[in-house]
Amino acid sequence: FVNSIDEFFTFCEENDVQFVDLRFTDIKGTWHHVSYRKSAVTREILENGFPFDGSSIDAWQPINRSDMILKADVPTAFLDPFTADPTVILFCDVYDIYKERMYERCPRSIAKATLKHAESLGIADAAYFGPENEFFVFDNIQFVDNPNEAGYKIDTEEGEWNSNTSYSDMYNSGHRPGNKGGYFPVAPTDSMVDLRAEMMMVLEQVGLEVILGHHEVAQGQGEIGIVFSDIIGAADNVQKLKYVVKMVAHLNGKTATFMPKPIFGDNGNGMHVHQSLWKDGKNLFYEKGNYANLSEMALNYIGGVFKHARAIAAFTNPTTNSYKRLIPGFEAPSILTYSMQNRSASCRIPYGSGEKSTRVEMRFPDSTACPYLAFAALMMAGLDGIKNKDIPIGPMDEDLFELTLDEIREKGIPQMPHTLRGSLESLIRDNDFLKPVFTPEFINAYKDYRFKRDVWPDEGRPTAYEFKTTYQ
Ligand code: GLU
Ligand code: MG
Ligand code: MG
Repeated sequence: FVNSIDEFFTFCEENDVQFVDLRFTDIKGTWHHVSYRKSAVTREILENGFPFDGSSIDAWQPINRSDMILKADVPTAFLDPFTADPTVILFCDVYDIYKERMYERCPRSIAKATLKHAESLGIADAAYFGPENEFFVFDNIQFVDNPNEAGYKIDTEEGEWNSNTSYSDMYNSGHRPGNKGGYFPVAPTDSMVDLRAEMMMVLEQVGLEVILGHHEVAQGQGEIGIVFSDIIGAADNVQKLKYVVKMVAHLNGKTATFMPKPIFGDNGNGMHVHQSLWKDGKNLFYEKGNYANLSEMALNYIGGVFKHARAIAAFTNPTTNSYKRLIPGFEAPSILTYSMQNRSASCRIPYGSGEKSTRVEMRFPDSTACPYLAFAALMMAGLDGIKNKDIPIGPMDEDLFELTLDEIREKGIPQMPHTLRGSLESLIRDNDFLKPVFTPEFINAYKDYRFKRDVWPDEGRPTAYEFKTTYQ
């Protein structure tokens, strides 16, 4: 670990570093970078910050106030495993030179402010987050030559895979997993063993603690499990993981995507988020003897997340595609209740929770979220639930995908929104709980941006499916 600027320079010398790559995250979670020659990086600039143009980043500064500063977080230094010349990467926070403080639209700074807020309320002094980012790997050539395998032809009456006519059968390639056939036979059905292994090794090189990798339920879908971290470290890890997974796939001639629902009729990609709050080294979510050993505070946290779920979905599920994943039958939740072990509930309490490991797993978020904003929004909702002693509906241990709409209504169980528009409209009505760390100007700019970039272009666009249903 590089703990000081002195150690940073030593690290650069030891590794013959040629470039210092500064990275920051925008409101959609896109990782941006600018590379400095090592010789241009002085102690002074590391302390005072690197200037850049903030007006070219979505929903940030206007052109007439575009000068901003990147403040490097030196202890985050690590070597880029993909560059030809030794390059050190530094996570940065964005600083507003006009207001002389953190930039109020910098997601990483917002996540930092969230933890400070929890401390100032006297509730917690640490927040642990464990994200699980699922992804698909598509074979570029297969995508073109063999559309069945890419899911184009999964469009029979009920949306079922039609094995009678599948390309796989015709070519006797039975080792290719069919619809929902990926979880998790050995090779050759699992054709991503070496690719995932390479991803896992590179993730370790960049400092992530990797636990396991496995094929997921859908064709070509995978997941790599990493150790949880504090709120900032966990979001930094998401940025590293997406970078490494996409780069390793790319260097192997393939394309990795974290898109929530790339294939109709098969499982989508989630970003489940495990969470717990701690104080004085004690897990505040643990209370032995209760349902799933969950404390009252943990229940209130879940209650707060559920109460505001429709609004925070604008951050945790921020794209139009996000809502194509949140439908029954694919292990992604749509109903806001909690349960031990139940993968159809929005919040699962993982099996075997002891004093240290008791946590809640929110299952609705996906990887199109900016991890800093998503974690901050989840935590602000949870803290609000703790303040107001909100109690969620549940536990419900049955398969919730079997419930009819009438039953859901009768039981009064709230649901996730069905569209991004629905979520943004909830955010407009319900955002007071976010205000201690999300400014009203930011919420407004964010909402406008999502309408303009995601909702309206999608709403006005005919889909391939509509050519079928509206043929007259
Ligand atoms: N892929 C599922 C989702 O969309 C989750 C599967 C799992 O439980 O890991 O959330
Ligand atoms: Mg999974
Ligand atoms: Mg999970």
